Amino acid sequence: MIKVKNLHKRFGKLHVLRGVEVSIKKGEVIVVIGPSGSGKSTFLRCLNLLEQPSDGEIIFEGINITDKRNDINKLRQKMGMVFQNFNLFPHLTVLENITLAPVKLKNEKPKQAERNALALLKRIGLEEKADNYPAQLSGGQKQRIAIVRALAMSPDVMLFDEPTSALDPEMVGEVLEVMKELASEGMTMVVVTHEMGFAREVGTRVLFMDEGSVKEEGSPEEIFSNPANERTKEFLSKVL
Ligand code: ATP
Ligand code: MG
Repeated sequence: MIKVKNLHKRFGKLHVLRGVEVSIKKGEVIVVIGPSGSGKSTFLRCLNLLEQPSDGEIIFEGINITDKRNDINKLRQKMGMVFQNFNLFPHLTVLENITLAPVKLKNEKPKQAERNALALLKRIGLEEKADNYPAQLSGGQKQRIAIVRALAMSPDVMLFDEPTSALDPEMVGEVLEVMKELASEGMTMVVVTHEMGFAREVGTRVLFMDEGSVKEEGSPEEIFSNPANERTKEFLSKVL
């Protein structure tokens, strides 16, 4: 579904991504781990072209999305993204946050978009928050809403950048639960996280990134129990 070939990203003189190679199949849950500054966020942001890659190719559903002739907005609609800090629109209600993109970008009828949004809210048990503003919600609730907001666009893949890092510990579980459910429904997911329990339980493959490239990849079992790379071992000894 996604094939990344020799991906490079430079910010001026800073060479952040140095030849990332990844191939992601439909239905996989890829967990990306690695030290701070290794380029995990930059990699995710390049996948949906929030950052323009400096070099290399990203083939998504058969299309080279780094080719500037393609319609970036069409492609982005097929990739949902969830950030560490929720990024909900503060001046819109929960319902408006969820219906905005389907109505504006996919020309869904407002009534239809609302019905969909309410069904999604119901799934995560937050339908009674439809008319609240983000400031009136807990961090865990905000993040679950950010997830269903992305889902409202019916994406083919969901990208998560440390979705639980900004949460109080007691709210981490409820967000991971929603992600776990998504995975069990067959959603293709790329998840940057420090939640090793989630990685083990839900991940189909773990990528270890260091200094701008994938240094090791394998099943959670392989990576956590028997890492081959010295840098992976060192990193895991700090986080496990
Ligand atoms: P963390 O675990 O701390 O989130 P990360 O692996 O996600 O780290 P990135 O955010 O991808 O790392 O950053 C990799 C490097 O790229 C860092 O040195 C960072 O300062 C730099 N960087 C990221 N975004 C930009 C930008 N827009 N302009 C300049 N430098 C950037
Ligand atoms: Mg990051």
